[in-house]
Amino acid sequence: MILSGKKRGFISSLLVLSFALVPIYAFGAEELNLYSARKEKLIKPLLDKFTEQTKIKVNLVTGKADALLKRLEIEGRNSPADLFITTDAGRLYRAQKAGVLQAIQSDVLDKAIPAHLREPSGFWFGLSQRARPIFYAKARVKPEELSTYEALADIKWKGNICIRSSNNIYNQSLVASMLVHNKKAAVEQWVKGLVANLAKPPKGGDRDQIKAAAAGQCDIAVANTYYFGKMIHAKKDPKQQKAAAAMAIFWPNQKGRGTHVNISGIAVTKSAKHKASAIKLMEFLVSRDSQKWYAESNHEYPVVEGVEWSDTLKSWGKFKADTLNLSTLGELNTDAVKLMDRGGWK
Ligand code: FE
Repeated sequence: MILSGKKRGFISSLLVLSFALVPIYAFGAEELNLYSARKEKLIKPLLDKFTEQTKIKVNLVTGKADALLKRLEIEGRNSPADLFITTDAGRLYRAQKAGVLQAIQSDVLDKAIPAHLREPSGFWFGLSQRARPIFYAKARVKPEELSTYEALADIKWKGNICIRSSNNIYNQSLVASMLVHNKKAAVEQWVKGLVANLAKPPKGGDRDQIKAAAAGQCDIAVANTYYFGKMIHAKKDPKQQKAAAAMAIFWPNQKGRGTHVNISGIAVTKSAKHKASAIKLMEFLVSRDSQKWYAESNHEYPVVEGVEWSDTLKSWGKFKADTLNLSTLGELNTDAVKLMDRGGWK
């Protein structure tokens, strides 16, 4: 077939175009944009490994959870973000309700992550677990004196409990879990009892509560496990290590529903332009190697069963965890906050 000059020109420019496109796929120039409320050092090494294996580059934007969520809302469908990582199911639920996430389906994720640690329709998935147990001062409290979260409202602990403020999502999620397992009036009574038992008005983070108990300001603290792990390993800060050494974990509610746990999790954004690659990264993050590293890097528990725990976690012993579906914590968040307000929890 003889082509006219014009046609030949058209075809050769098509060829140039396709040659120009080929290298993009050949060298895997696919990119992913991840907004993460977790610090860079807790995720970057895994992302690098993912890039090495798949040639998919991951651009990481880190920031505070609420700021990143606001950014996703403002950017809307123009957001470059494909994925969002944050801690606490309550926050993931907020992102879901704000309409910035999309549900995805992955057999790999469904198989790897226990059902209660992921959103039932696929809006978000747990990547690591943290527990929120009771900490006691070994010199002054015997573990036999402790039993449940509910029992912390007992008058016997008057002036002896340290816990952070009610505007913290961790406490809101704990109270939300209590609303599932108890009558509303009983939880309200519990909040009042707990507030009456506080050693001091709530101030500071979880670590400050453990430190206050170690320093004798109270006998009991409530905190997330990884903070305790960080204190134990604070090699440059012997004071923290000393405080941690004075305290021990008590796993509450072992005869009933189990200790309250929460997650750090991941979700595909509604604006995602690289959905298939985004799912690929999520699946990579629940592989056994990733799980081990990701959990260990922040003294957390893996979500995948059978993945070995770090020595620190092993030293705290096994415990029964509450298997309530974590999406419930988000659904009950408003009720929990109102109830904490009414109960005078500052
Ligand atoms: Fe935290």
